[in-house]
Amino acid sequence: MLTLLWDITSKCNLKCLHCYNASKYFFSNKKYDLIFNYDIEKIIQKLHYLSINHLHLLGGEPLLSQNIFNILKLSNKYEIFVSINTNGTLLNSDTISQLLKFSNLSQIIVSLDGPNEKANDEIRGKNTFRRVTQNIRNLVLAAKNYRPDLIIAINTVVSKHNAIHLKEFPEIMKEMGVKYLFISSLYDCGSARQNKMMDNKYFYNFIPHLVELLRFIKNEKDISIQLDTKPKLATYINRLLGRKVIKIEPFSCNAGESLIFMDSNGFIYPCASTTQPMHNYKIDFELNIKNIKTCKEFSLNKIFKNFLKIKESIHATYCKKCEFIEICSGICPLYKSESKFIPLECQTVDFFQNKLFYSILTKKYRIVNRKKYKINNHVERVIVDMIGQDYKVKEVVDMLSYDYKIGKDILIKDICGYILDLVVEGIIIEKKEVINNEIY
Ligand code: SF4
Ligand code: SF4
Repeated sequence: MLTLLWDITSKCNLKCLHCYNASKYFFSNKKYDLIFNYDIEKIIQKLHYLSINHLHLLGGEPLLSQNIFNILKLSNKYEIFVSINTNGTLLNSDTISQLLKFSNLSQIIVSLDGPNEKANDEIRGKNTFRRVTQNIRNLVLAAKNYRPDLIIAINTVVSKHNAIHLKEFPEIMKEMGVKYLFISSLYDCGSARQNKMMDNKYFYNFIPHLVELLRFIKNEKDISIQLDTKPKLATYINRLLGRKVIKIEPFSCNAGESLIFMDSNGFIYPCASTTQPMHNYKIDFELNIKNIKTCKEFSLNKIFKNFLKIKESIHATYCKKCEFIEICSGICPLYKSESKFIPLECQTVDFFQNKLFYSILTKKYRIVNRKKYKINNHVERVIVDMIGQDYKVKEVVDMLSYDYKIGKDILIKDICGYILDLVVEGIIIEKKEVINNEIY
């Protein structure tokens, strides 16, 4: 599937604290929305010939665009699926009934940055929570009757203002009848940068609340969470929760390949972030949908060729040492020229994991559930026997390091990880102490 993310308008009726597009659209005098002076059918026809079969409409606020229903109609004609990200304020009975008429509309994602009025309105503006949640209820009800296959999701951008409330989302989602929660992290650009919302500590706040939410919904069948995670973070969370709550999948940047971006003037880029001033990556060439005549001209364009070359270039030093490098494309290609750039979420996982492992090292454990536990190899047998004989984990590490001539650093990671798995599965418990589920 080839997806085009398309900002169909630069206009918006809100001024969210973290808007990543603000510097592009609201803080500049540049004219936007010029592609709509051109024949829309010709644009959609070209997108179809370029093999784009999914349009994801963004903005600004897409429902402020006078062209949205025409885009939906023409995409339907050319068999292109459409999904929409909206701030939800303009989902009234009229827009809802118009939207639901299009069978090619597969997803409506509504932004809600808090599960209550205070948390949401602090970010998205006064009264937005009340208006938007009511509109979502109406949308869910109408879709139940006319488009039961339509996916309705909430998207929330996590920041220091709302991280603490993540756990409360399932309750309001159930009340509104929404099953999907998309969790996004901040982009350090636009208003988010102006309001200094992103810093090196961002994930220190985010990850514990995310773990709490996932722990909370472990047994919820009606709520599904989607988040883009690097395998390192996913593995860490699964280990803490004691099961595969997040699927560990190869992580790769799709920009410039199965995903491309078009602004509201018709200029095409590998990714929406390419045009944001948060990295050193510069584009010297222009590619406008109006001027593209052939598929070859499109795919062989310098913008894509140069971008793909950067994507294939070597990994940052930090990623080179990572155990997941075989299944992860590493840092965002836009930052690859910045040799000291570190994926912040992975650095934060290292910090939490080390803290957790060093706390495990000083403890003694006892086996409480022999029946449940399987031994896969000789070393696991040695570890469990030692635990049974009253050793501290550090002593186990020392002995195994001496006997097997393996560096302690490597052993600490493996043994503590194994002990943690046994604790989470309820096979061993900390000796003489009450188990404390709060790891942070
Ligand atoms: S450290 Fe790099 S390679 Fe490892 S999971 Fe993070 S981004 Fe991917
Ligand atoms: S990794 Fe970077 S280039 Fe790739 S999609 Fe994400 S922001 Fe865009």
